Amino acid sequence: MISDIHANFAALEAVLAAVDTEVVWCLGDLVGYGARPNECCAAIRDRASVCLAGNHDLAVRGTIDLLDFSGDAGIAAAWTRTVLDDSSRTYLDSLESTGEAEDVALYHGSARDPVWEYVLSDEAALATIVAAPHPLVLVGHSHVALQVALHDVTLDGGLAPRGTVLELPGARRLINPGSVGQPRDGDPRAAYLVLDLDARTATFERVEYDIERTQEEIRAAGLPEVLAARLAIGQ
Ligand code: ZN
Repeated sequence: MISDIHANFAALEAVLAAVDTEVVWCLGDLVGYGARPNECCAAIRDRASVCLAGNHDLAVRGTIDLLDFSGDAGIAAAWTRTVLDDSSRTYLDSLESTGEAEDVALYHGSARDPVWEYVLSDEAALATIVAAPHPLVLVGHSHVALQVALHDVTLDGGLAPRGTVLELPGARRLINPGSVGQPRDGDPRAAYLVLDLDARTATFERVEYDIERTQEEIRAAGLPEVLAARLAIGQ
């Protein structure tokens, strides 16, 4: 389970090598911010059995207006439009921002706003947990690995650093695997989640990747320096 790749192909390659034979689901934002959108679209198209559209994917393909994107996000989305190849565009055009697989509900953002809402509060998590058609909900978009559980009437959870293991039965749950290509939770390593639906466990993982390679690609493309610099600190 992966999300928010953001055209960071070095990070995506590291994650796909780490998950090896696993089934891959992707929660969206294949492109935007980074400089390798076509490589990331091709890899996800080949490797993921389920993939959602994120707000950056929708902006690049023209479904939402670039004016809805601020500063560096808008600059990167406009640049991505100029380099996107036909097969990547066709693939992005085929994606939607909600989905489900194996009785798991999937949203890029949230149940009440699959494109834009960041689930970073108890209130937002609860709203999506109760609206979702399944007890397990996966979201992306915030680039923060986290988990929230609803046990009867009690809500608990929080940030989910590498090595966090959840036993899924006994609660309704919302999980964000974190971001492959632009983590914002202080851990710069690429994030992903191993979801074992037979054992009913979820394990948060991180893997090192060549951050300098991605930074050089961003600088060579003439994208804003902050998009390269932030990768080193995971913010
Ligand atoms: Zn994103």
